[in-house]
Amino acid sequence: MSDPLLEVTDLVKTYAVSGGGFRSKGGLVRAVDGVSLTIERGETLGLVGESGCGKSTLGRAILRLEDPDRGTIRFDGQDITNLSTKEMRPLRAKMQLIFQDPFSSLDPRTTVGGSIAEGLRVQGLDPDQRAKRVNEMLELVGLESYHARRFPHEFSGGQRQRVGIARALAVNPSFLVLDEPVSALDVSIQSQILNLLKDLQVELGLTMLFIAHNLGVVEHLCDRISVMYLGRIAETSSRNDLFDSCVHPYTQALMSAIPVLDPTRRKDRVILEGDVPSPLNPPSGCRFHPRCPVANTTSCVSEQPPLVSVGSAHEAACHVRAPKEADWGRVRT
Ligand code: ADP
Ligand code: MG
Repeated sequence: MSDPLLEVTDLVKTYAVSGGGFRSKGGLVRAVDGVSLTIERGETLGLVGESGCGKSTLGRAILRLEDPDRGTIRFDGQDITNLSTKEMRPLRAKMQLIFQDPFSSLDPRTTVGGSIAEGLRVQGLDPDQRAKRVNEMLELVGLESYHARRFPHEFSGGQRQRVGIARALAVNPSFLVLDEPVSALDVSIQSQILNLLKDLQVELGLTMLFIAHNLGVVEHLCDRISVMYLGRIAETSSRNDLFDSCVHPYTQALMSAIPVLDPTRRKDRVILEGDVPSPLNPPSGCRFHPRCPVANTTSCVSEQPPLVSVGSAHEAACHVRAPKEADWGRVRT
């Protein structure tokens, strides 16, 4: 029987927002609107979707940095959905977040060594043990021990992300949420950091949720990939199946957006029209239908498509490409 490290079921997170203007009504932003996913031990799941589709909210809710409205989160066999801040404390070191902008997690007035050591103090390590661990961590992420005495502004963007990774790993976590960790970096530096993460993944056996807004970034690092659109999962599959035979037209559109050296070799390009609709007032039926090149059924407009199994460990939510009456069977509503 499978014993996943993380199991998220039907998670919902909304934000009440005020109108902010004369006569404009406030409302409820449905940032995450019924998401289920599992991550096996040692596995990396990629979570991909356009900006604003709810990726960060989902990542933060999983770490209980946000309180979900509904659904359950099980981590390492324990239901953590309703744990208090105090009850979460022993779990904090086990679940770490790596940000897009490591500046936001580093105190500008604290040396990098001090920042990396912060979580170690909480764990009760003495100063010598902390200094030793800081050195080990700097070496692990490809920095030098003298870097410990420097301040965040003395580092380049790529080096700062290495510090962010060292800081998260210092407390020996088993699960990492990486929220667009390379989006702010130059392309050449991006691949260095992705290679570092890949090495660490193998060396430390980490389980990761890797968030990105384009598929190209997750291609080399992830075992499976979930594609998210306006608060819901559109498709989940193994990385190879997704790249070889994706089912959802939105996934196809994201594939079309990956830069390739020779664009004429690309077949079946799907270019999206229009902007992402607002999660304050999401479209009826399938949320993707106003931008969808294949929407052709009344269900597309009136009924939310369920995630349906379309192959081995491959699920998609699309009335046209993954009709639920097909004999591959319905797995989730
Ligand atoms: P992503 O990470 O995919 O870009 P987010 O999770 O940051 O998306 O945001 C999803 C939606 O929720 C967006 O419409 C965003 O504006 C909204 N949102 C996020 N955080 C808040 C908040 N604290 N208050 C109100 N709305 C929020
Ligand atoms: Mg985000």
